[in-house]
Amino acid sequence: MLSRILIANRGEIALRVIRACHEMGIETVAVYSEADRNASYVRLANESVCIGPPDCNQSYLNIPRIISAAEVTNVDAIHPGYGFLAENANFAEICKDCGITFIGPPVEAMRQLGDKVEARKLARRAKVPVVPGSDGVIENEKEALRLANEIGYPIIIKAVAGGGGRGMRVVHNDISLHAALASARSEAEVAFGEGSVYMEKFIVEPRHVEVQVMADQEGNVVHFFERDCSIQRRHQKMIEESPCPILEERDRERLAEAASRLIKEANYVNAATVEFLLDKEGNFYFIEVNTRIQVEHPVTEMVTGQDLIKWQLRIAGGEPMTLRQKDIRHQGVAIECRINAEDPANNFSPCPGTISRYIAPGGLGVRIDTHVHQGWTISPNYDSLIAKIIVHQETRAEAIATMRRALHEFVIEPIKTTIPACLEILSHNLFVKGKIDTGFVERSL
Ligand code: ADP
Repeated sequence: MLSRILIANRGEIALRVIRACHEMGIETVAVYSEADRNASYVRLANESVCIGPPDCNQSYLNIPRIISAAEVTNVDAIHPGYGFLAENANFAEICKDCGITFIGPPVEAMRQLGDKVEARKLARRAKVPVVPGSDGVIENEKEALRLANEIGYPIIIKAVAGGGGRGMRVVHNDISLHAALASARSEAEVAFGEGSVYMEKFIVEPRHVEVQVMADQEGNVVHFFERDCSIQRRHQKMIEESPCPILEERDRERLAEAASRLIKEANYVNAATVEFLLDKEGNFYFIEVNTRIQVEHPVTEMVTGQDLIKWQLRIAGGEPMTLRQKDIRHQGVAIECRINAEDPANNFSPCPGTISRYIAPGGLGVRIDTHVHQGWTISPNYDSLIAKIIVHQETRAEAIATMRRALHEFVIEPIKTTIPACLEILSHNLFVKGKIDTGFVERSL
């Protein structure tokens, strides 16, 4: 059992982890940059340590400072949240070398799945369908041309180390391949320090459907069903829901089983999300594994009644999973809207600033995960997520109605937020019918 942990993150996810810990009797240590000194999660942790100035490289991404904070506060483990160091295998390895439990997968599994080419190989071994594409890294332009013609345009070039939608380029013909290859490589080089790319067939108007999986140290693997995350802008999710509104029961099971099989093959431990694209014919293809808890995990918590962060903590503490697959039930419909400090009327440009008026929605079936409050200043240094609204109802129509009601209640002034954009999507007749794909937002907003 863990008794004291450090959370190497900030914002709503730091608070989310602290809440789970305190309910389990686990003590918490928050780390914060100078911009987050007065944050609610810092105040609610049992102890806190300032790790540097607002710039992430000198605080939340600074491994020596975080490890020092963990050592002086004498914690057993570190929860990395999502983003920042959550998928950094070197960080996980350093934690291990320092005798600190990393609340996440083993270093080897993280390395293997963090490399998208390796992850595709693993999926094939587990007999999970992958998007048709290159077997490995694309070495040169000649090979790229040959492959693109073999697969057939459109194709997508993707970074091996990819994440956050960076290092991806869709290509429609031989002529634009050269430039796309170069720009994907240089974007990946800047973002990940690693410019290798591979190629996949570009699936036209797919749905993004992902499966939440959890594995313990004894090799038990269970899934918590799927989330549909097709509402995206520039490959970034905006609204997520469970279940996927168009999947038949048999296909849901096939998808979930494929995800569990892949996770078993990887000798994985702790929480993972296996992401798939679903084409118009109903075929699904593996795209990647996220080796951490995800922003949209509350959607799954609402429909299954299971606290995923608590399972992460128990598993990292060495407890076997007492939950069996048949014990995990899916009930009703949950939807999450991400509320970002961005101006939808101005190309979603970031809108940092101080919140002078804040009134959160409430009522039956509404959950708000946030660290913000009246008087809180949103810093330009971090991502623009300020709150998540999650609703849970018997049917999808009721969930949409509850979400619209909650979004109308939400007051966050004077900064601009994505609330109007979420409302527009929720009112769209194709969304209401569940007829959405990953291009819906760009076409309809
Ligand atoms: P990242 O790790 O950068 O988030 P992913 O591989 O998860 O990259 O892809 C992110 C999104 O990009 C997907 O949800 C989907 O919308 C789009 N995408 C990725 N690969 C393909 C593909 N082969 N065909 C069509 N869309 C794709």
